[in-house]
Amino acid sequence: MITHPFTYQAPSTIDEAVQQLDRSDEGKVIAGGHSLLPLMKLGLAQPEALIDLRRIASLREIRSEADGTIAIGALATHRDITHDQTVRAKLVALAEAAGAVGDLQVRARGTIGGSLAHADPAADEPAPALAYDAIIRAVGPKGRRDIKASEYFKGVFETALAANEIIAEIRFPAPDGRTGGAYAKFAHPASGFAITGVAAVITIKADGTVERAAIGVTGAAAAAYRATAAEKALAGTNGDAKAIAAAAAKAADGITALSDLAASSDYRKHLVTVYAKRAIERAISRAKA
Ligand SMILES: Cc1cc2nc3c(=O)[nH]c(=O)nc-3n(C[C@H](O)[C@H](O)[C@H](O)COP(=O)(O)OP(=O)(O)OC[C@H]3O[C@@H](n4cnc5c(N)ncnc54)[C@H](O)[C@@H]3O)c2cc1C
Repeated sequence: MITHPFTYQAPSTIDEAVQQLDRSDEGKVIAGGHSLLPLMKLGLAQPEALIDLRRIASLREIRSEADGTIAIGALATHRDITHDQTVRAKLVALAEAAGAVGDLQVRARGTIGGSLAHADPAADEPAPALAYDAIIRAVGPKGRRDIKASEYFKGVFETALAANEIIAEIRFPAPDGRTGGAYAKFAHPASGFAITGVAAVITIKADGTVERAAIGVTGAAAAAYRATAAEKALAGTNGDAKAIAAAAAKAADGITALSDLAASSDYRKHLVTVYAKRAIERAISRAKA
């Protein structure tokens, strides 16, 4: 039950939504409601105004642009993303991460914009957003702002998004030709959230050596992060089992790992290295296919 009073509005354009959000003192936008409503029921979030984005049809679109950028509207659900043919072909690590979110009902209602705005440290989609160098396009009272994923995740439920900004879309630059991606997740057995999730996006040269490695990790630390030590270790190698193992071993370097009833910090770090290895192996084999 939600015990505190709030107003409800469902604007039909993003500009209207931004104005309504900006006018309210403690307002919040609502997308799939799968994170916000549980918090409201627990009394942990008490917005005085709810601005529902569901009537803004343009926010649901997934489109390819002339330069190859894949723009995913903030209201695209995890299920939309999992089944979209372009995402499956070009951004397979994102398709796999979206397909690993919660259960069927959660994937049918929850949205990528909601997931990135909420920034639960155990959310899946931040990992591929980082690994694919996504841009979070936000709209606020002063207009549009593009935020690099690498500068977006700040801490537990904390991002670079301002309270009066709305995510309009998440923009993924087209990956180069010989690029493979994969997402490997160790899910919490009860909630399904990621105790560890690793997205690897690997580009190889014609001779089979690793040209570029991008590895996004979620679940392990207060905020999702890029495993830069592992990326550096893998780049320039021939991507064989030894090189993968050496790189994966560095995927938790320098982090302060979370610790809770589900996994101690040492165990989480260990899981990161194991799941990094799995994600890198699959990404390389896809890049070579
Ligand atoms: C049982 C259950 C299991 C789950 N398991 C997983 C899991 O395994 N992995 C995982 O990643 N997630 C999981 N989730 C979370 C789920 O993915 C949520 O859908 C997601 O985190 C939030 O998306 P939403 O659209 O529901 O956002 P909402 O709940 O509507 O909003 C969440 C927050 O984001 C803000 N917001 C929403 N959209 C925007 C926007 N466009 N611009 C700015 N702010 C916005 C809201 O104001 C609110 O603060 C689970 C949820 C449940 C209930």
